[in-house]
Amino acid sequence: MTDIAAKKKNEIVIALAGNPNSGKTTVFNELTGSHQHVGNWPGVTVEHKEGTLRKLGYTFKIVDLPGTYSLAARSQEEIVARDFLIYNHVDVIVNVVDAGNLERNLYLTTQLLELGVPMVVALNMVDMAECRGHKIDLEKFSAFLGAVVVPTVAHKGEGLDHIIEKAAELAQCHVCDPPRSARHNPEVELEIGKLHDKLAINPVSKVPVRWMLIKALEGDQVAKDQIAKCSADGHAAVLEVENTRRHLEAHFGDDLEAIIADGRYGFIGGLMREAVTHTDKHDRVTWTDKIDNIVLNRVLGLPIFLVLMWLTFKLTFDIGGIFANAIDHWVGALSIWAASALPPGPLSSMVVHGVIAGVGGVIVFVPNIVVIFVIISILEGSGYMARAAFLMDRSMHVLGLHGKSFIPMLMGFGCNVPAVMAARTLETHEDRILTILISPLMSCTARLPIYILFTGAFFSQNGAWVIFSIYALGVILAVVSGKLFRKTLFPKSVSPFVMELPPYRLPTVKGTIIHVWERTSLFLSKAGTVVLAASVIIWAMGSLPWGVEFGSANSLAGHLGRTLEPLVKPLGLDWRAAVALIFGLGAKEVVVGTLGVLYGFGHGGFGEKGLQSAIASAFTPLTAYTFMILSLIYIPCIATIATIKRETNSWKWTFFSIAYSLALAYVMGFAIYRIGLFMGFK
Ligand code: GDP
Ligand code: MG
Repeated sequence: MTDIAAKKKNEIVIALAGNPNSGKTTVFNELTGSHQHVGNWPGVTVEHKEGTLRKLGYTFKIVDLPGTYSLAARSQEEIVARDFLIYNHVDVIVNVVDAGNLERNLYLTTQLLELGVPMVVALNMVDMAECRGHKIDLEKFSAFLGAVVVPTVAHKGEGLDHIIEKAAELAQCHVCDPPRSARHNPEVELEIGKLHDKLAINPVSKVPVRWMLIKALEGDQVAKDQIAKCSADGHAAVLEVENTRRHLEAHFGDDLEAIIADGRYGFIGGLMREAVTHTDKHDRVTWTDKIDNIVLNRVLGLPIFLVLMWLTFKLTFDIGGIFANAIDHWVGALSIWAASALPPGPLSSMVVHGVIAGVGGVIVFVPNIVVIFVIISILEGSGYMARAAFLMDRSMHVLGLHGKSFIPMLMGFGCNVPAVMAARTLETHEDRILTILISPLMSCTARLPIYILFTGAFFSQNGAWVIFSIYALGVILAVVSGKLFRKTLFPKSVSPFVMELPPYRLPTVKGTIIHVWERTSLFLSKAGTVVLAASVIIWAMGSLPWGVEFGSANSLAGHLGRTLEPLVKPLGLDWRAAVALIFGLGAKEVVVGTLGVLYGFGHGGFGEKGLQSAIASAFTPLTAYTFMILSLIYIPCIATIATIKRETNSWKWTFFSIAYSLALAYVMGFAIYRIGLFMGFK
């Protein structure tokens, strides 16, 4: 291999990498002329070519790597190319790419980028590409790719001087940004981030930790060895990687290598759509292209997305509702049975008014939760969610916003905690903070029971529309807040990036079940812990001091509520609503649990006769809507706040997030209630 110990000053090592037939050898020959040495790589029958070029006062040592389609270490060629790049000093990679076969060629490029070595892309055979009707927007292409791109026609020597100039610049540059690399599926990125933190790998070689982790997750032995070598406890580190791999494979119900490959193709798909136009209609059109031409259509794209979202809520409300009624019936029966079976007294009261009313009131919503997660999981697994982010991105650009924020935000529909964590995938500190600040405005599923309860009581005819409007308001507020923060807190231009468009795939049944189960069990365990504890506390507050009418204004809860009442009165709400919101600080599921306790779920179920009818007499459609909006905005739950603190590592931003959401909630609640009154709503 190249003798790196003898690296002289003014010597720049260039590795030529690319697919077979991309024109590497042609580039190599043009550059080095007769100053070349041809042999074999040690131990293998792969040709090794090395040559020199003197130019611009430097000596360029140029190595023509064997042509490969990936760096997966499967064939001898791949192993040779990869080992050279990992173990030797390389100043600049010149990635020779066949412009006429961009999509296939870029697959290797995405992997080369991950190596963190400065890179020039030689966009070769542009003469052929033009004939075939590909038009490449060079400026966009290199901005999105995050690497220098130079068009070349190798056999005519066109563009090669330029390549050498750029390579010299990059080799001398000590403050250049490292090349960007494809981001993977958000779930995969999340796990990579976690591993990064947990393993505290101390790289002894120049190989970036990220590269090692991705490769190791793909199952690559060499990368695993590297991780073992660079960690304090190598065995444990590799085990950790293996566990993560198993977790992700269970999550996706598929081979992780395939998922990661999808991430790379997604990056390429997005890049192609942004920077390349095909004027030739005879091009091979894949299913993915056909579907994308419809769902990403400039006119139809957004309406299709909105209709899908509306359908999601419609199904959640309707199908979930059917099963919810059955559970409601059982919980109601249980409540009546418990009231008669237990001797009258504090115990019976606690079980009926506290535990069953609170926990039962939340459990009722499990079917809705299951339905919405089945749908979200299918949308995600099929690849459609990535398109939604792409569409959002396009609209966000109009506002001068960073569309990449939408990947974490779409995760926020499930739960805000992973959404805040997913903000790690953004490149600049400002973008991360901004995304973290607006993510909690995405309506997570913990808030869904509140909407379903109130919608069922007041708007059952138009349930899907009402819930849709609340989710949409969350998104709109997120966008507007983002714009506001961008203008005031981080006045900085938006860095370009590519939205990933992975190929469509059929979501697997197993993957869907696992996803839904993970989320639902989380919901259930919250009902069994946080909601249970809160219900008992609220029951106690509603019963104390002994002798008062349960949950009346004279009880402890009543006193707390009445202290807060002046605050919520301008929004049309009474003291019980205030208590529910206060207890919802811990977890938003508790809001419904609290309402269940205070309004007496135990008296006959959640449906017509029970909580819903109690709610119906205590609220009006207008105050119900106001209450839902407050629940959406008023504060991130404790778990999200803790995550914000951890991810921003700053109390300042954590408090800002809390203060901002409280203020925004109040302003929005006040505005909706007052404008509603003014317009004659009740
Ligand atoms: P390698 O496998 O990457 O080393 O590719 P080669 O350098 O052997 O090139 C493969 C073929 O493509 C050869 O016939 C070259 O003459 C041809 N070729 C290389 N660069 C260009 C180019 O820019 N335009 C055109 N039209 N042909 C090229
Ligand atoms: Mg060759």
